[in-house]
This record gives sequence, C-alpha cells and structure tokens, in this order.
Amino acid sequence: MSTETTAQYVKAGRHADAPAQKDLDRCVHCGLCLNACPTYRELGVEMDSPRGRIYQMVQVATGQTPINPTYTEHMDLCLGCRACETACPSGVEYGKLIEAARTELNAVRPKSFFRSAIEGFVFNHLLSSRWMLSLVGLKLWIYQSTGLQSLVRATGILKLMGLAEIEKLTPTAERPNFFGQIGKVFPAEGTRKKKVALLAGCMQNVFFAKLNEATVRVLQKNGCEVHIPAEQTCCGALHAHSGFRDQARALAKQNVEALVDGGFDAIISNTGGCGATLKEYHHLLEHDARAEKFVSLMRDVNEFLASIELNPNMKPINAVVTYQDSCHLAHGQKVTKAPRQLISKIPGITFVEMPNASICCGSAGIYNVVQNELAMEILESKMGNVNVTKADRVISSNPGCMLQLRAGEKLHGQNRPVQHVIELLDEAYRG
Ligand code: SF4
Ligand code: SF4
Repeated sequence: MSTETTAQYVKAGRHADAPAQKDLDRCVHCGLCLNACPTYRELGVEMDSPRGRIYQMVQVATGQTPINPTYTEHMDLCLGCRACETACPSGVEYGKLIEAARTELNAVRPKSFFRSAIEGFVFNHLLSSRWMLSLVGLKLWIYQSTGLQSLVRATGILKLMGLAEIEKLTPTAERPNFFGQIGKVFPAEGTRKKKVALLAGCMQNVFFAKLNEATVRVLQKNGCEVHIPAEQTCCGALHAHSGFRDQARALAKQNVEALVDGGFDAIISNTGGCGATLKEYHHLLEHDARAEKFVSLMRDVNEFLASIELNPNMKPINAVVTYQDSCHLAHGQKVTKAPRQLISKIPGITFVEMPNASICCGSAGIYNVVQNELAMEILESKMGNVNVTKADRVISSNPGCMLQLRAGEKLHGQNRPVQHVIELLDEAYRG
C-alpha cells in the first residue's frame, strides 16, 4: 500500500504525452478483456483490470479525479503485458494508453532522493552505456563466480534487508560479453540470401551474450550475412514502459539513424519486449518517414526465420518441450505461430502446449523487481501450468521471461532448462 499523499503530487496541467481522448474513447467498457488480465485474475479487483484502469485514466483525463496515490497504485500494478489488447474486440491500444498514463504520472509523482537518483542513473546513463554495462557485468561475474554470492546468501543478510527474493532473480553475468562483437559482420554460410542487421540489446550483451551468439549462428546457417551495426543503442523499451518517453525517443532516433540506410533486408531482434517497442518507433517519433521505414524493416527473429525456407540440416533433439509466449511478442507484435512452427521443425522434439501459454509469467521488464510479491504469485500460477505439460524443457522468446521462468523452475518446478527458441535451433544445427 502506498504511503504517499495526494498533497505531495506536483500540480500540473495535462502532460503532452498523456493518454489521448480518442484512444480512451475506444473502450466501450464491455469487460471482455477481464479474464485475460493476470492482475485481475490474481486480485479480482475491478480497478486492477484493463477496464478499471482505463476508467481511471478517463477520470484523470476529464479532471474528475486528480492523479493521486490510489491511481498510482493501480497503474503501477499493471504488468503492461497487453493481453487485454488481444482480447479486446474494440481495438483498444492498451499498451499505448498505459505508457502514456505512466509518462504523465512520472512527471507529477513524489519521489525520494534515492529513487530519483537510481532512476536517473539507470534511464539516463546505464542502459545506453556500453562501458558501464560491461563494468556492472564484470563485477557481478566476480560476485557470482568466486563463491561470494553463496557466502552472502549463507549469512542471511539479504533476508534481513528484505532483498532475498529479489536477489534470486539476479541474472547470471556471462563472459565474454557480446559488446566485443558489436561493429562486426558475420558472413552467410553458403550462398548469401539476405543481408540483415541484429539489434543486440543493452543488458542482453552482458546477461544473454550466448543467446546473441546463437542468433548470429542460426542466421548464418540460414544464408544471412549478419551485421551488428556499431552505432546501435538500447531500444528504449524499459524507458517507454516506465514513463521516460523523452529518453526513449532519443534512443529511438539514434537506432533509426544507425540502421535505416544500411541496405538491410531486415532488422532483427531476438527479444520480444524490445521488438514490440522497435516496431512502434513511429509512435515515439510521430510523422517521421525514416522511423516508418525502420519499422517496416523490423522483424522478430522467429517471425523472420519462419518467413524464409528454413535450413533443414538439423540433428534430432529428443525432448518434450512446452512454450511460454512472450507477452510483447504475442500481444504487442501478434507473433504466436512462428515460434511454434520453428520448434516443430526440429526433428525429435515433442511439443506440448501448456494451458494459458499467452498469459504473463510475471516478469514484465522490471515488474518482478518493483512488484515482487504479485509477480511471484503470478509466477506460481504459471509454473502450475508448466508442470501439467510434463515437459522436460521450457522454451520462450524473451530473455526477461526466461529469467522469470528459471526462477520459477527453482521455486515451483523441477529445475528444467529454460531456453530461447533460437538456442534450441542452434543446438539442433550444432548437434
Ligand atoms: S479494453 Fe476492450 S475488452 Fe476491455 S472493456 Fe474496453 S472495450 Fe471491452
Ligand atoms: S496490460 Fe496486462 S496487466 Fe495490464 S491491464 Fe492489460 S492484461 Fe492487465
């Protein structure tokens, strides 16, 4: 429960990026989205449903209610998973609305010095700085690989500080990181069929370097010359989701300029969350023809590989697997068939669909850190669905989901490996 008071909020007129009335008006309050919403399913509270949240946005937009602690709490509890968008028959673009609402909220909400400092550091510096991310990765790698992590855990100090649950979600820093590959060009295997650019992400270069390497190899196997353009930067998804829209715009501009004139057949992302923002750069950079061209070239890696003739030279993998949709891939990008098609093309694989695969696992960017309790409840439900499949591997298409599912495997599962679709394909190609 929030300890803020309404008086602490900065009084301001409507923010330039506040939810637009025409977007709010599309909701007819039918409630058909309620059952798709993970927070409504867990909490059973109308104000924590998509319809309830849109109602509150309307109240703020029309001046009937000020932005206050109650409004803040319900907006903060939204995962931004956009499952409501898929369920909505009226075409409400909920993702756009919640990002706009958070941008407006961010400009007026009271913040402690500590919170402002952390947000300023992360959103203005860390995510777009290769050397800072490299340094964080190196320190974390030392902490994790020298036994220091086990020692700290054993002392119980994390529990005393209330950080034990969050620390369990810390990703493993990989060495070497992927920053060393940025700027390089990887030739196609055999005849070059496509020239593509890979967006390597920000933290992904440190925590999912091996996934990026696997992505390059799988694309090469499929006749692609893979460029990792040097001037690329963080996609800005975390900024946009957290209400830092101006910073997201600056990053979007840099990526557009870095890639749009490269003569690429496609610009590829292997991360559902980043891909959704990258495909919506025309929302961030309105009336910008170069941003529109960039968007027309953007492809999720699953979508791209499913659209070409896949190299069939794979060795069998004898495993039963299930697939957890990445919310931003399924609901943001509407890509659900491609990953399943790719998995089913690997010889030896038995695919078992899990119940409610398209419902969020509770990861949602940094949601599992800032709303840890509810994220863990959502994860528990998810692992119940994974367990009924009796799969021996869990597959997804977004690093954030993979981290959350790995935590779920430790807490409620059977310690099964959690892999990206591309890692499974890479394994099949490498035998
Ligand atoms: S968001 Fe869509 S499904 Fe949900 S209440 Fe509004 S119109 Fe109905
Ligand atoms: S984005 Fe997800 S959590 Fe938020 S209202 Fe929609 S379905 Fe619910």
